[in-house]
Amino acid sequence: RVAYVNGRYQPHAVAAVHIEDRGMQFSDGIYEVVAVVDGHPIDLSGHIARLDRSLTEMRIARPMPSRSLRLVMRELVRRNRLSNGIVYIQVNRGVYRRDHPFPPAHVAPSLVMTVRSGVGPSRTAIENGVPVITMPDRRWARRDIKSVSLLPNVLAKEAAHEAGAWEAWQVDRDGYITEGASTNAWIVSRDGALVTRPLNDDILAGITRQSLLALARADGMTVEERPFTVEEAKAAREAFTSSTTLSALPVVRIDDAVVANGVPGSLTRRLRELYAAHIAGAGRE
Ligand code: PLP
Repeated sequence: RVAYVNGRYQPHAVAAVHIEDRGMQFSDGIYEVVAVVDGHPIDLSGHIARLDRSLTEMRIARPMPSRSLRLVMRELVRRNRLSNGIVYIQVNRGVYRRDHPFPPAHVAPSLVMTVRSGVGPSRTAIENGVPVITMPDRRWARRDIKSVSLLPNVLAKEAAHEAGAWEAWQVDRDGYITEGASTNAWIVSRDGALVTRPLNDDILAGITRQSLLALARADGMTVEERPFTVEEAKAAREAFTSSTTLSALPVVRIDDAVVANGVPGSLTRRLRELYAAHIAGAGRE
């Protein structure tokens, strides 16, 4: 396996950043995860646009133009002969002696890219659905930025893991679900509408969320971008959680409540089919 680190392709096993890297010191960076299917990155333009936005919001300089970023990515996929998996991209504020304010302008941002093959949920998870737990959302107030500062997400995911669940849906102070620790949260309401929280600083603008919304609308489904409570989710017709590596993963239990008789719902299955067609066609870039 080969990784890209600040201009060099290196064997993954020994690829390393400096100990004074801002990512190491402060988690002062942002990232993207792009799925690769049959050697093609999926929804790449969306991921590059979100990366750009995260950099702008964090006031981190672009390590290279988007065009070059795409080329490095393609080269990394090629060198790894990656067919199905992910590319992980991290950009952070670079290497400088530890001090909280930004380093001087001449300090270049760090760019790291790695690949991994064969990520994604198991057959069983897709066919049977998965349980999630809910917990208070204790993350920061700019969840729209794809920051590498993921400590609350790590703690939430571990809590889910220890509870035998797949994901930890985060709940705001008013009892509304924001999103999962690494996924966007969805339900199908009692009226049969597809519901997911609208975009603002409270959640990450998932690229899969965006694609699923477009596919659902094109398919004629009723879509409502609005917040929903834990209670509504527990009583929903269907529930699922989405991300780049998952597509729409059926959720069949929320805490102790069984959702949709404990089996993946038909609308969720339909969305999975639409998304599968998307990544086999228009989603390839
Ligand atoms: N929400 C959070 C907090 C995430 O970390 C992620 C992905 O890692 C998502 C949602 C889903 O985003 P995407 O569909 O772009 O993978």
